[in-house]
Amino acid sequence: MTKSHGNFWQHKSLEQMNPTEWEQLCDGCGLCCLHKLEDADTGEISYTNVACRLLNTQTCRCTKYSKRKKLVADCVMLKPDQVATFKWLPKTCAYRLISEGKELFSWHPLVSGSQQSVHRAGISISGKIVSERDAGDMEDHIINLEFGDV
Ligand code: SF4
Ligand code: SF4
Repeated sequence: MTKSHGNFWQHKSLEQMNPTEWEQLCDGCGLCCLHKLEDADTGEISYTNVACRLLNTQTCRCTKYSKRKKLVADCVMLKPDQVATFKWLPKTCAYRLISEGKELFSWHPLVSGSQQSVHRAGISISGKIVSERDAGDMEDHIINLEFGDV
């Protein structure tokens, strides 16, 4: 008899996920593709509503995902052992939730079965952002983001 282990995100750690599972874990919110500013004195991170030039501002997906690191030098490619140390990850980020031993939200595509639920729940940044191509001075775009509350 085959023993059922349920859904992979409920029993695997980030380190145990295979590449497909790792990619599926991303909810597609796009929050981590927003530019952030770091206070030189305090180290405090502020989010802006300015998206990386490669982000589709409606779908919140990277338009050049496979070449992203080559095209955008400061694009962060998350790795399992970094997640807990990246305090700037939004509190809704699935990688952060799993690393903290928490459940995914009901709007997560893996739970809801729909890629659109992250948009419908108002978690994603779809339609709320400007591309860095049009933004101008980043300082004018700081938003009060409680790491997930857009
Ligand atoms: S914040 Fe997390 S869940 Fe959202 S797009 Fe980035 S990696 Fe994916
Ligand atoms: S290159 Fe793609 S994945 Fe990286 S920050 Fe830009 S939009 Fe996001």
